[in-house]
Amino acid sequence: MKKLAAGNWKMNGTLASLAEVGALLGDHPKPACEMLLCPPATLIAAMSTAARGSALMVGAQDCHPKPQGAHTGDLSAAILRDAGATHVIVGHSERRTDHGETDALVRSKAEAVVDAGLVAIVCIGETEAQRDSGKTLAVIGTQIDGSIPGGATAASLVVAYEPVWAIGTGRTPTLSEIAEVHSFLRGRLRGLIGSEAEGVRILYGGSVKPSNAAEIFAVPHVDGALVGGASLKAADFGAIVAALSAA
Ligand code: PEP
Repeated sequence: MKKLAAGNWKMNGTLASLAEVGALLGDHPKPACEMLLCPPATLIAAMSTAARGSALMVGAQDCHPKPQGAHTGDLSAAILRDAGATHVIVGHSERRTDHGETDALVRSKAEAVVDAGLVAIVCIGETEAQRDSGKTLAVIGTQIDGSIPGGATAASLVVAYEPVWAIGTGRTPTLSEIAEVHSFLRGRLRGLIGSEAEGVRILYGGSVKPSNAAEIFAVPHVDGALVGGASLKAADFGAIVAALSAA
C-alpha cells in the first residue's frame, strides 16, 4: 500500500497561492508516498495544470450527490473530474457541522465520487464531549457504517479519522488513542468490505504538523494524513510528505 499525504486548503487560496505548488514539487519531485492537495474548487483546474506530469494529485473538498441538474452553486463529481480532480473529500466535520450533513448524505456523495471514477476520502471523527463520555468507538463505528459507499474498494476509498476537537486546535489524541481508533477502523472495514479493507488507506487528521508527523506515522494502521493548516505552506507540507515517505 502506498501511503497518502493529503492537504485540505479549505476556504484559503487564490491564484497567487499556486506558487506553493512549484515550491513543493521543487523540493519533493518524487516522494515515496502519494501527495494530494485539495484547494478551493476555483483553483482545481489551474492547480492541475501546474501539477501536470508531476507526482502531485489534485482533489476537491466536497461534491453534490447527483451527477448533474438544477442545483445552483453545487458541483458534481463529474464536473470536478473534468476540472482535473482525482479525489474528493466528503463528510469533513466542518461540512457536517456547517451544513448539517448526515452519514446518509455523506454516503450518497461518496457513491457519486466513486461512480465518477474518482477516489472518495470519507471523513469521520468524534467531538470532545463524545470522547470525554467514552463514546469514541461507538460514534466512529456508526459513522463508518453509515458513510462509506457500497462496494467500496481499496482503490476507490480512503478513510480519514479526524477527531473534531483536534482540527485546527493544535491538540492531538495520544498515540495510543490514535492506535486504538485506527485498529478499530481496520477491523470495522473488514466487516464491511472484506479483504479490500487491508488496502484502504486510513489517514489521521487533526493538527498534524512537521513536529509531530513522524511519531503519528509510526502508529500501526496510520497510512498517511489529512492535513489542514500545515498544508498551506510548501515547507510545512513538504516536511510532512518527507516524514511519511520515511515511515
Ligand atoms: C482538517 O481540517 O482536515 C484538518 C486536519 O485541519 P488541521 O490540520 O488544521 O487540524
